[in-house]
Amino acid sequence: MFFNGKVVWITGASSGIGESLAYAFARQGAKLILSARRVEELQRVKAACNVADENVLILPLDVSDTESIPAQAKQVYDRFKHVDILINNAGVSHWTKVKDLTLEVIQKIFNVNFFGGIALTKAVLPQMLENKSGHIVVISSVLGKMVVQKQAAYNASKHALQGFYDTLRLEVAPEGVNVLLVCPGFVRTNVAKNSLNKDGVAINQDNNKIQKGLDPDDVANEILNAIEKSKDEIIIAGRPERTGILLKRLFPSLFAQMMRKRKLL
Ligand code: NDP
Repeated sequence: MFFNGKVVWITGASSGIGESLAYAFARQGAKLILSARRVEELQRVKAACNVADENVLILPLDVSDTESIPAQAKQVYDRFKHVDILINNAGVSHWTKVKDLTLEVIQKIFNVNFFGGIALTKAVLPQMLENKSGHIVVISSVLGKMVVQKQAAYNASKHALQGFYDTLRLEVAPEGVNVLLVCPGFVRTNVAKNSLNKDGVAINQDNNKIQKGLDPDDVANEILNAIEKSKDEIIIAGRPERTGILLKRLFPSLFAQMMRKRKLL
């Protein structure tokens, strides 16, 4: 089995896609580092993983506290010596028009979605380059390739991930390190509930499209499959989101017209 004994560090492992990834890797015999802010939720996920204690490390962290990341990485190396696969999955959205969006909330979104993962990447990259192997996986979004209203900072943070990691891939592929960008569409998680309002507080309201979205367990399985095949990028989404990406690329004016009237997504 490809993942048996591999050391996998997952952020945002307390919920949604990250939680499903933890279960999928656990089934394949991987050693896990589970990170997020809520320690009790990480403990719940650890228990449900049903793997030996010595093969799971709960490492609570706030990815936006980038100064703490080197010390967190040291704890990982002290325990497991190296990381085979880093999954930058922790993320947060918002539901606010730009006119109401404060700079503070925009920075909060970028600190979690962009800078947090970059700090973790920088922490594991030297060791991966030295070993000439490793996988850096980034959970971006279809909104890294197109845009919807009321999510400007989220869209921008996911577009920024695309630029950063496409570049990183060019630099590290010859050194044996794989960079995989994952672009999911609607997935049934707490992402909508956890979206921030204009004051930076979770809206705690679900969204119909997210409720009817893909099963996070299926998404996790597709991600493992893509890692095993060392793919560069995968889009895991339904027809509307795929159509949106295609329209944005081929007919940007038509895409903008439709999205202004919210006729597509
Ligand atoms: P959830 O809200 O269910 O999960 C988000 C996870 O991120 C939680 O485990 C949360 O844990 C963690 N997290 C949030 N902020 C921080 C932080 N500051 N530090 C550490 N961990 C943090 O949503 P999803 O599972 O859907 O989201 C996972 C990723 O998938 C995100 O990057 C999201 O943008 C992306 N995505 C989701 C889609 C969807 O439709 N669901 C579509 C496209 C992309 P805790 O609160 O314990 O810190």
